[in-house]
Amino acid sequence: MLLARAEPAVWSAIDEVQVSVYPGHEPSKDEISHWLERAMQHGVEVRLRPMSKFMESYSEQGTDDPVLVRRIYDTCLVAHVWRCYNVADGRFYKCPQAHFLPKFLNTRADDGIVIADDDSFGAALLAYLNADVPLESCRNCLGAVGKFFPHEEIRGVQWRDPQRVPTEDLVDWEQLVKLENTQYVYSLIMRDRRAADAEAVVRLDRS
Ligand code: SF4
Repeated sequence: MLLARAEPAVWSAIDEVQVSVYPGHEPSKDEISHWLERAMQHGVEVRLRPMSKFMESYSEQGTDDPVLVRRIYDTCLVAHVWRCYNVADGRFYKCPQAHFLPKFLNTRADDGIVIADDDSFGAALLAYLNADVPLESCRNCLGAVGKFFPHEEIRGVQWRDPQRVPTEDLVDWEQLVKLENTQYVYSLIMRDRRAADAEAVVRLDRS
């Protein structure tokens, strides 16, 4: 495991490591003791997270319902709250799905922005992050409202088969409504985020 081979410089540069533990592939007690020892030496917190269930992440067929796409985007914790941003090939993406889905679904969607070394990039990035319009990739994505399913191992060549259904079949509708009903809390998070981002852009412009 990468953690076992991590150099001291890596341990010194991080505050916390979360290790996803999958059924049938649990680390040995010796391995865990080794991590904890290194973590303690560097003041790093190590958390083991048993993963017994997973959330549907995308649909091969997607949906043609713009209202549903909008609802999935509006409640998307991945992009708006957890900020799982991605940088790849000189482009910035507000979520990993925006980078990967167009690639393997061959949709030709262009959901990122080019990273530019100029004065206007800070404002362009902020506008991209706060855009009130779903990405093209959201049509095939489940955001934070995919149904849960228990852990199982399937052959590599078959892993896409369960996704060959419309988005509508993979949505956890209760979770979608639940997230929409927490819109107030969610909008507060967004408001704070926008304020922090605006401050960051001002600092960027002044530097
Ligand atoms: S593609 Fe859309 S719904 Fe999926 S994670 Fe990105 S922003 Fe969220």
